[in-house]
Amino acid sequence: MTEFDFIRRYLQRQQPDRDVVLGIGDDAAIVRPRAGTDWCFSSDMLLAGRHFFADVAPADLAHKVLAVNLSDMAAMGAAPRWVLLSAALPQLDEAWLQAFCDSLFALAAQFGVTLIGGDTTRGDYVFSVTIAGELPQGMALRRDAAQLGDDIWVSGRLGLAAAALNRHWQTVQLPQEVFAQCERARLRPQPRVALGRALLPFAHAAQDVSDGLAQDIGHILKASGVGAELWVDALPSLPDLRACLPLERWREFVLAGGDDYELVFTAAPADRARVLAVAEQSATAVTRVGRINNTSGLRMVAADGGEIILTSLGFDHFG
Ligand code: ADP
Ligand code: MG
Repeated sequence: MTEFDFIRRYLQRQQPDRDVVLGIGDDAAIVRPRAGTDWCFSSDMLLAGRHFFADVAPADLAHKVLAVNLSDMAAMGAAPRWVLLSAALPQLDEAWLQAFCDSLFALAAQFGVTLIGGDTTRGDYVFSVTIAGELPQGMALRRDAAQLGDDIWVSGRLGLAAAALNRHWQTVQLPQEVFAQCERARLRPQPRVALGRALLPFAHAAQDVSDGLAQDIGHILKASGVGAELWVDALPSLPDLRACLPLERWREFVLAGGDDYELVFTAAPADRARVLAVAEQSATAVTRVGRINNTSGLRMVAADGGEIILTSLGFDHFG
């Protein structure tokens, strides 16, 4: 199979999208902007050995490659619309490509995004997706918009992907049932696009949690020039995961694990009911986990009121 067979047979599928003037097959794609919208762009790259195991199932890989980009749109409150996929592949294996593309197009259809182009080259596995989304003009959930007194909220559950990854590295032991749930979270993150869009009219700052909550909240605090208190032991996770891990390890996974692809966002306390209502409408759990204040940096607080200090070696708990 040649590169051009691959493009024709696997990538040039019918995708209903009235705003795509010209899709895959020419030198470049053309899309037509709608009046009153801002466009929002993001790009994420995944490398074998760094972001995924080289023997990952192609369907899981395709899901992740697209989901992490959809998550960036969710974090802006944008409607994802178009994606470009650049792929380096060691060979064109038909069964592998079929499974990869079926999964990719299934997720794309689920979120209403259209694959409009990309590039294919021979090499060790690398995937880079560029995504474009739409926002109502002048609106976005930006990192620099947190306000004093805001509640801090987190969607879904944290630490599962990190637990599964550590189980692969054999640095943690998990019961089979718990591992299965964590592994599913690691392989099939669910981008919180519906929640992000529903929050857009009233939430303040937001970002997706990809590098660990503590670090990612830090970006919001820095951009917004504020501090925060985070109630670490109230962070949402899998109860069975928490039950089977030493507390320090659990805190490490929820605070610094990475690969969660949940949203962390801030909103005024007056909007609590509204947050809960849009969370329910978008079928996404949300948990209130802290508060924006006028200190500097992030203060992580344990259930007993003691401060949790993040060190390069892990976490120290000064109760
Ligand atoms: P060029 O020579 O300009 O790089 P190509 O022959 O690589 O063009 O690509 C032909 C068409 O196939 C273009 O529309 C391109 O966007 C599309 N394409 C190539 N690779 C991919 C891919 N991995 N995913 C989606 N579209 C692709
Ligand atoms: Mg090319």
